[in-house]
Amino acid sequence: MKETFISWVIPCFNEEEVILETLARIGQVCNSINSYSWEIILIDDGSTDETRNIIKSKIKLDKRIQLIGLSRNYGHQIAVQAGLNNAIGSAVIIIDADLQDPPELAEKLITEWEKGFDVIYGKRIERKSETLFKKSTAAIFYRLMNLLSDIEIPLDTGDFRLIDQKVVYALRDMPEKGRFLRGLITWAGFKQNYVEYKREKRFAGASKYPLRKMILFALEGITSFSRKPLQISSFAGGIASIISFIGIIYVLYIRLMTNNWVEGWAWLSLVILMSSGLQLIFIGILGEYLGRIYIESKNRPLYLVDEKIINANFKEDNQADLITNE
Ligand code: UDP
Ligand code: MG
Repeated sequence: MKETFISWVIPCFNEEEVILETLARIGQVCNSINSYSWEIILIDDGSTDETRNIIKSKIKLDKRIQLIGLSRNYGHQIAVQAGLNNAIGSAVIIIDADLQDPPELAEKLITEWEKGFDVIYGKRIERKSETLFKKSTAAIFYRLMNLLSDIEIPLDTGDFRLIDQKVVYALRDMPEKGRFLRGLITWAGFKQNYVEYKREKRFAGASKYPLRKMILFALEGITSFSRKPLQISSFAGGIASIISFIGIIYVLYIRLMTNNWVEGWAWLSLVILMSSGLQLIFIGILGEYLGRIYIESKNRPLYLVDEKIINANFKEDNQADLITNE
């Protein structure tokens, strides 16, 4: 009797073109590693194409496959969390549906896990045919992120990784709505290691991460892990006030002690423009944080499930979402 389960968690958003191939590849990997039992959790993140139906048709043929259909599109990070909340495995492998991350790497991930590591992330040593733009923005983002935040997020990694059940429990206990998983996992600590791999190009379909989503994601990452932008604002605000104070004395001096005080309008307007610009930026940064407090304080559930097809026979006491350690 094989006791130990390993779960795959696969977020899918409009992946009808790739999902069958992904399931085939993952199925092969599961078959080749037969020291564990497997479950393959697919989270349909509100797809508008045939993704969900394709998954359902596969469930009939392969009882390792499970479906969590979310009520709408919540975004990649939340979809992954929905999967984690339902995973029963002693280890969970988080992988994208588009085969950019090779499922075959599971074997190496598991070897490291068996050695006692709790988080083994895939480190990209080559990113095949991803545009220069995507690579360079990603590189800037991670460096900026590490510069600004209080935790050190490993460079050149995505969410493709194996995490031990301990870490899964830890993530279930983190209630924040603005979820930046790789940050949360870094924050959680435990024994971490990495395995290198080549990031392939998408098997089919287009990236679901246009620039707009990438910027929002970056903002989420920075603001959920760092107070530095706020601190920089106060610091810059302080310097600006000192300079304005000197400016005021200077202006008064010119106005009271000399005769050429009608001059200098250019300088004045410059100062006004500069300070009002700075103020707007800082109010904006404050607003970003305030907005996040607002979202968190509403305490809405992270996501709503529309339908769930799980194999109840091995999921007796693990049915409920968001169950915690105890
Ligand atoms: N995804 C999702 N919800 C979304 C966007 C993406 O579940 O709102 C999934 C998508 O199906 C894929 C993974 O997240 O499995 C990564 O997305 P994608 O490959 O489009 O991102 P990229 O690799 O281009 O950064
Ligand atoms: Mg991709």
